[in-house]
Amino acid sequence: MRHGPGPPGLRNLRVAMPLRDGGWLTFATALPESGASFSRQFIIAMFVMALIIVAVSVWAVRRMTRPLASLAAAAERLGRDGQAPPLPETGTVETVQAARAFNAMQVRLRALIDNRTRLFSAVSHDLRTPLTLLRLRAENVENREERDRMVATIAEMDAMIGAALSYARDDASGEPSRPTDLTALTQSIVDDLAATGMPVTLDPPAGPAVRDCRPPALKRALVNLIDNAVKYGKAARVSVASEAGGVTIAVDDDGPGIPEAEIARVFEPFYRVEASRSRDTGGVGLGLAIAKSIVESHGGTLVLRNRSGGGLRAEVALPKQ
Ligand code: ADP
Repeated sequence: MRHGPGPPGLRNLRVAMPLRDGGWLTFATALPESGASFSRQFIIAMFVMALIIVAVSVWAVRRMTRPLASLAAAAERLGRDGQAPPLPETGTVETVQAARAFNAMQVRLRALIDNRTRLFSAVSHDLRTPLTLLRLRAENVENREERDRMVATIAEMDAMIGAALSYARDDASGEPSRPTDLTALTQSIVDDLAATGMPVTLDPPAGPAVRDCRPPALKRALVNLIDNAVKYGKAARVSVASEAGGVTIAVDDDGPGIPEAEIARVFEPFYRVEASRSRDTGGVGLGLAIAKSIVESHGGTLVLRNRSGGGLRAEVALPKQ
């Protein structure tokens, strides 16, 4: 193979190959002097084409994954809000099928939960009649000490049933979420409780903290926490902090706190720390379970922490939506 000068701007290329019979196969051609050159227009055209291809690809990928993203968001919402609206059944055949299956699952789940809640409230409600009869019979017991103990136990059972019933009713009410200023809500709760003579104070709040929530439910959760702080820690100090990540409402007290080993267990329904069971604090052990379930149904967390200086801090953290 040999290169040689050719006509202007070109160079010759000759190739010769020996053949078996002793002869040669040769051919020659003219090639451009330099390698392939790219003109300005060519580069611009390639660049514009690449841009169009990237834009079309991004659009197509987005279009294909958008239904997946809304499915994921709906699944996440379902865990918190059983009353969430159904997914729109639009798009490709596959996305319509997925949305339809998801909506059907949501309806079935809601029916299942409603059914269980109804059963739970019916059982709790029906237990009250035999309990009343039992109390009437207990009041006829001759031995006074025995009678008082029986009546106290029955009253405790009645309180537990009452708490369970109100829990079931709240759960079934399905009140809608609406934008609410959590600072104002906390302020009104503290004012109402303080007006009844409870030792509750609110640290000066920074400003409004608006977020979607179910105000009566959130109020119940906060009242339970404040109630505990007053019951076990003598007084409650409430504070509201609004940060970029969301809103934190803390309830502090100067009481004995909760032994570290029991902190996770106090969220279990009807669980009470030994000291509270023996003390006459009047609770049934549902307050924290209810508060936790309400906060989590808002997508938030409820954490209990023993404060370094003594006392307990109950912290409700509600993320931004
Ligand atoms: P209840 O107050 O009706 O017993 P809760 O579910 O509200 O039920 O609380 C469970 C247990 O957690 C209480 O019995 C108590 O032992 C403990 N507890 C809750 N809050 C506090 C607190 N602020 N300080 C100390 N112990 C607490």
